[in-house]
Amino acid sequence: MKLREHEIIAARTNLRGEIQHQESVSIGDRTPEAVVRQIAQLAGELGADAPINGIGIGIGGLIRNREYVVDATFLGWSGVPLAKLVGEATGIPTLVDNDLVAFTEYEHWFGEGRDDDRFAVITLGAGTGFGLVANGAIVTGQDYGIGLVGHWPLDPAGPLCFAGHRGCATSVLNSDSIARHVSDALGRPVDYEQALDLAEAGDPAARRVTEDAGRGLGRLIAAVCNLTLPQRIIIAGEGVRLASIVADAIREGIARDRDPRASTPPIVLGTKNNVDWCRGAAVLAIQAFVHGTLPGV
Ligand SMILES: [Zn+2]
Repeated sequence: MKLREHEIIAARTNLRGEIQHQESVSIGDRTPEAVVRQIAQLAGELGADAPINGIGIGIGGLIRNREYVVDATFLGWSGVPLAKLVGEATGIPTLVDNDLVAFTEYEHWFGEGRDDDRFAVITLGAGTGFGLVANGAIVTGQDYGIGLVGHWPLDPAGPLCFAGHRGCATSVLNSDSIARHVSDALGRPVDYEQALDLAEAGDPAARRVTEDAGRGLGRLIAAVCNLTLPQRIIIAGEGVRLASIVADAIREGIARDRDPRASTPPIVLGTKNNVDWCRGAAVLAIQAFVHGTLPGV
């Protein structure tokens, strides 16, 4: 399951992370008790005709020990023992982790990075995320869920983010920033998808904003390549469409910050399908099942 701001997306997978059945529900009451009730109901529906061995939950936030939500700002949660609560409500062993950790684990076990020793994931959308697998294992630490790449500098002449950085990833790449900058330029409100539609149709204002974002993304990719030497870069998330619209600007941004002798690894664009995040969450449970480390309930 993937917890989003306004909905829970749930899927039942097999042991290879292949989706067999999926459902989603809107979140009304955001208290942990109410959300856990919804999770338990979804688990009951998805498990009606096949037993569920484990539940994995991906959530955009700071998580400890695959069980405890230290902080998930978008839900207003802090200090929630989510794995324990869901385990008690469902009778099913449950693991929780940051959604990007989970997504990167999926790419590592079953996805585009399954044959790589070292690869990077960059996610685009409401936030900008970065995941790294090195020496065959995901690189994490206790600060992982903060979203550390969000304020990485990309454009010294770019707009300011809410924290006062000029041209950071948040101000250049995030979907709401792009929608806002295109709206400002047009003098009328457009949402992110409309901004991308306009860019695709060649609207000059939308092109300028999205090409700036593309060059910023290129510089971020260059930084990732320069610092971590990945064999592959996987671009994923709701904003993956941006990357397909401004491919030339991305190449320009990469070239600007790379030694001309350096070879840039393959850049793979994922789908913008939100259910992909569920595969990542499922892998948390699949790994524990395979390793014999599913928690008790
Ligand atoms: Zn910033």
